[in-house]
Amino acid sequence: MVLMQGKGVSAGVIKGKLYFYQRPDNTVVKTAVEDLQAEKERLAAAQQASMEQLEALADKCRQETGEDSAILFETHAMFVEDEDYTAMIAEILEDEGCNAEYAVKTAGEQFAAMFAAMDDAYMQARAGDVQDVTQRIPNNLMGVAEGGIDSDEPVILAAEDLAPSETLQLDKTKILGFATRGGSGNSHTAILARTMGIPAVCGLGDGLKEEYNGRLAYIDGETGKVVLDPDEITLTTLTDKYQRQQEMKQLLLTMKGQEDVTLDGKKMMIYCNIGSPDDLGAVKANDGQGIGLFRSEFLYLAADDYPSEDEQFEAYRAVAAAMDGKRVVIRTLDIGADKQVDYFKLNKEENPAMGMRAIRICLNRPEVFRTQLRALYRASAYGKVAIMFPMITSVWEVKECRRACKSVMSELAAEGIPFNPDTEIGIMVETPASIFMAEDLAKLVDFFSVGTNDLTQYTLACDRQCNDLGKFFDPHHPAILRAIKQAADAAHKAGIWIGICGELAGDISLLPTFLAIGIDELSVSPSVVLPLRAEIRKSIAQTCTLERLE
Ligand code: PEP
Ligand code: MG
Repeated sequence: MVLMQGKGVSAGVIKGKLYFYQRPDNTVVKTAVEDLQAEKERLAAAQQASMEQLEALADKCRQETGEDSAILFETHAMFVEDEDYTAMIAEILEDEGCNAEYAVKTAGEQFAAMFAAMDDAYMQARAGDVQDVTQRIPNNLMGVAEGGIDSDEPVILAAEDLAPSETLQLDKTKILGFATRGGSGNSHTAILARTMGIPAVCGLGDGLKEEYNGRLAYIDGETGKVVLDPDEITLTTLTDKYQRQQEMKQLLLTMKGQEDVTLDGKKMMIYCNIGSPDDLGAVKANDGQGIGLFRSEFLYLAADDYPSEDEQFEAYRAVAAAMDGKRVVIRTLDIGADKQVDYFKLNKEENPAMGMRAIRICLNRPEVFRTQLRALYRASAYGKVAIMFPMITSVWEVKECRRACKSVMSELAAEGIPFNPDTEIGIMVETPASIFMAEDLAKLVDFFSVGTNDLTQYTLACDRQCNDLGKFFDPHHPAILRAIKQAADAAHKAGIWIGICGELAGDISLLPTFLAIGIDELSVSPSVVLPLRAEIRKSIAQTCTLERLE
């Protein structure tokens, strides 16, 4: 038996083959070909495969998130067949006697540049679609695995750790669980695992050896154990646990459709955190009552250039419309620190977590901010959108944000574009300054949402990316719980609602404390909604105490 010990960051037991994540190498190199006919046949096969993949993606979207997101893939499929585009590829292939990969890439670049240079904003946004298609066809020509996993059966994905942009591109249908050498409970792999409701163990260090690739493994996301060739006792323990977990899942399904209310009538809003429209399927499956945090960064992390207003609008509208009138809190871009995007060309910093990130970037780059706000307000006409600003420390920042919102609303009104002028505006409370200033900030906004991941990092002076801090990184520290109470008191004094959207919201052991504090909303990974609902429905708010704050 091989036993590896890490940190369990997403509960559950699962068995599957370990598969080491391969960073896809999809660099296209130009080569001369002699048999042009054979090259054309390779190209036709890759185009066909691309069409089939895109149609399958459109079908999946239609089932999980609705028609709007399916249309995106259908548009991509149309590009694969576009007459002008395919004629240009054929011409390059003939003229240069080169490989199909190179011809597709060159034609794609020329096409994308042509779209980008058009006056119409909608047509400019199509440049991104061409780039996407242009990568898909060569990937099929070169046999680069879609979503980084070249396996027919679902696997336990093993990796050093995964960057936010990598987690976005993974083919989630092929993942049973995660095992990583690095990472922490707040890492993006952990957050993704909890969203998907699958087990994850991180911090396994060098114990997780590449030579285990392909071996059958068991992971326990509660105890943090990863086991190969378990002995009889371990196998029985794991199998029993798996069985209990399945039974519990069945039991929790009875919670679907039930109200989020305590026995003595205190209502709690249970919302979900999502990282992209792909997560909507999990929200629906778990009966989330709204979106409390939509991390809009995914649009920026997944792109090679600034996403256009139309691209953003389409993504926000899809989520707002799919949630059917339920509240969707969309956070403006939170780039910087651990979420780096090359085209932002941010200066290298000694302490990026305390550097140019989140709202600071937006306030320093009004054009980037304006584009996102326009897209958000346009989407507000299609559902109950709320806008949230991250990393706030000062009153003047919120005032500037409000000014930017007002100016965007005036522009849209002048252009006759529909939007909801009463769109709620809120802030993330995730810095110690925002706690100290909570009474002043509460007068300026419609809601607070506590980001306990960053609040813990900044209050306890503990880097959330550092794996070695162990007991020092303690989100249960009374300082954090007192800070949350201070923010809640300020919010209620000003008559606004307060939620928690950091990972602590899903920590069921703290539910009595949050009820005693008077938290109005908990935004959690979709997989936590039903267990949390079950606990709320058993609770009596009036008997909950503040003892954990002492
Ligand atoms: C937080 O800081 O708690 C939060 C929800 O935001 P993020 O994890 O994206 O920084
Ligand atoms: Mg944060």
